[in-house]
Amino acid sequence: MILSLCYYGNPVLRKQASPVKEVTPEIQKFISDMIETMDDHNGIGLAATQVGVLLRIFVIRKEFIGDNGEFLKGVSQVFINPEVSEPSDDMEIMNEGCLSLPKIFVDVPRPQSIKIKALDIDGKPFEDTITGFTARQIMHENDHLNGKLIIDRCPPEQKKEVQHLLTQLKKNHKNRSKTRT
Ligand SMILES: [Zn+2]
Repeated sequence: MILSLCYYGNPVLRKQASPVKEVTPEIQKFISDMIETMDDHNGIGLAATQVGVLLRIFVIRKEFIGDNGEFLKGVSQVFINPEVSEPSDDMEIMNEGCLSLPKIFVDVPRPQSIKIKALDIDGKPFEDTITGFTARQIMHENDHLNGKLIIDRCPPEQKKEVQHLLTQLKKNHKNRSKTRT
């Protein structure tokens, strides 16, 4: 089932998500809906917060570079109750977008590598050291669970440049909320 996305202006995006107490079949069904929703929107990551559920869950879809240098989609990965630690001192700046902030792309500095501890879809704990683009995806999604967005991490002058788009998104949200029955 494709879930509806929450866009900038929706206060849920600024809230702190709570840990999952138990990985039940309902949670697993919700996660498979999250993956379907991410793919339907052609995204490479989605946090539960972005579909209005304040639980500490996110999914990513890994990307790899094909023979002709093109980006290809790989497997999806589930993170429940993730804990990010040991960020590297080496930072990297990359242009990022977000399904909750359509048409907005800003430069976000992030550590090159991190350690991640989480539960998988079966509730089994795992941990890993991740570097490069996947580490960035994880940090982006983990930010959502703490109410943080890419516009909080980009240079202030870039935020100013996209301010008109943010204002528009906020207005759209207000209109949508009014017409909801
Ligand atoms: Zn996002």
